[in-house]
Amino acid sequence: MRDDLMRLKENTLQALSDLKDMDELNKLRVKILGKKGELTQILRGMARLSPEERPVIGKMANEIKDELESKFSEKMQLIKKAVQEQKMQQEFIDVTIPTKPSIGSKHPLTLVLDEIRDIFIGLGYEVVEGPEIELDYYNFEALNTPADHPARDLQDTFYITENILLRTQTSPVQVRTMENKKPPLKIIAPGRVFRSDTVDATHSPMFHQVEGLAVGEGFTMGDLKGTLVKFVQEMFGHDRKARFRPHFFPFTEPSAEMDISCIVCSGKGCRICSYTGWLEILGCGMVHPNVFRYVGLDPEKVNGFAFGMGVERIAMLKYGINDLRLFFENDVRFLKQF
Ligand SMILES: [Zn+2]
Repeated sequence: MRDDLMRLKENTLQALSDLKDMDELNKLRVKILGKKGELTQILRGMARLSPEERPVIGKMANEIKDELESKFSEKMQLIKKAVQEQKMQQEFIDVTIPTKPSIGSKHPLTLVLDEIRDIFIGLGYEVVEGPEIELDYYNFEALNTPADHPARDLQDTFYITENILLRTQTSPVQVRTMENKKPPLKIIAPGRVFRSDTVDATHSPMFHQVEGLAVGEGFTMGDLKGTLVKFVQEMFGHDRKARFRPHFFPFTEPSAEMDISCIVCSGKGCRICSYTGWLEILGCGMVHPNVFRYVGLDPEKVNGFAFGMGVERIAMLKYGINDLRLFFENDVRFLKQF
């Protein structure tokens, strides 16, 4: 019996030293020291002992029991501590790690506008601005579009009064500039314009244009073409082809629309370019003599060219965006892609 007790003690201490888990510790404790545990089993044999042996074995059994109890509680403390340390490790937050604040990005229209601006500044152009609330005179009349001109029907205008409107184009800045500054001059005028359009994937009552104007002596369509081809190559890549189609604008003569080879199919023909291989990108032309007359310049002495482009259109082509509304909804999931 003495040997049984010693063996029990040794085996228990051995099992205990390998333990790492609180559940297993409790199970072992019940198995050894529980009411129906191994120690109790051994002590049942006390009845067979002689009266002299009984107190000796009893004392020994108590000592072993006490020792094991204290080893169990020691181990329990160790496991508790280990569990806590592990938890601390997992939940550890290093407050000294520098945090990265999420940095916003520029709106795609701003990015495109910045790029247009940079390209033309590089070509010697100056950036000017004009009012969004404009006089009918500047928006139409001085641009060779008098009250009875059929071209007025082409634009749905927000009128504030009979003579005051929200500008439908950035072209009035041409007139305002020429009134205040003598040629030679080269300007671009970016800004918002307004038309009474219903919102859909390709229309918005407010959008952005960039107007361009170069006035001096001896300008030709060749200068216009060279400038705009340079622009599209900077904007859309140097292998981009361009073509000019005759068009009509009241304030330029001759007038043209400029197309670039399709960005998606490079001219082969696809859904985006309606299988033509070309995408319309801007309107342009040589400044109409009447526009010079309105600002007191002699069209016999000066000439020049003008162009106007939609910023949303260019951004849509550049970034492959298929819905104009995305620019104005300010959905972060859209904006953070730029
Ligand atoms: Zn195409």
